[in-house]
Amino acid sequence: MEETIFDKIIARKIPAQIAYEDDAYIVIHDISPQAPVHVLVIPKRRIATLNDLTPADSDLLAGMFLVAAKVMRSLGHSDYRTVFNCGPGAQQTVFHLHLHVLAGRKFNWPPG
Ligand code: 5GP
Repeated sequence: MEETIFDKIIARKIPAQIAYEDDAYIVIHDISPQAPVHVLVIPKRRIATLNDLTPADSDLLAGMFLVAAKVMRSLGHSDYRTVFNCGPGAQQTVFHLHLHVLAGRKFNWPPG
């Protein structure tokens, strides 16, 4: 599979503002933030979309939420929105699984 923009960020081939990193995940600030805080939780092992997950990925997926909570806590936020876009019809543009985490403004429901 072709390298994604997130693979290049993980490999430090292109820069990003890194909020958190460990062996399994990197968290970066979105280049086009949709809220005062908008980070992306990205597993280093590339999975293209939610549709490509298998039961063997359960721990990796759960870990994304644990990392999201840890990072938001470190940034001083307890109220935030988490979003997975899955597929072009849902506005997914980077086919490397990532969880959007947004905070710092009022959110509406339904999200649109
Ligand atoms: P998607 O549309 O796939 O759900 O989300 C991809 C996100 O990645 C978008 O919000 C977009 O702004 C962000 N993004 C795309 N390219 C870059 C980049 O080079 N650096 C950073 N930090 N974010 C990026």
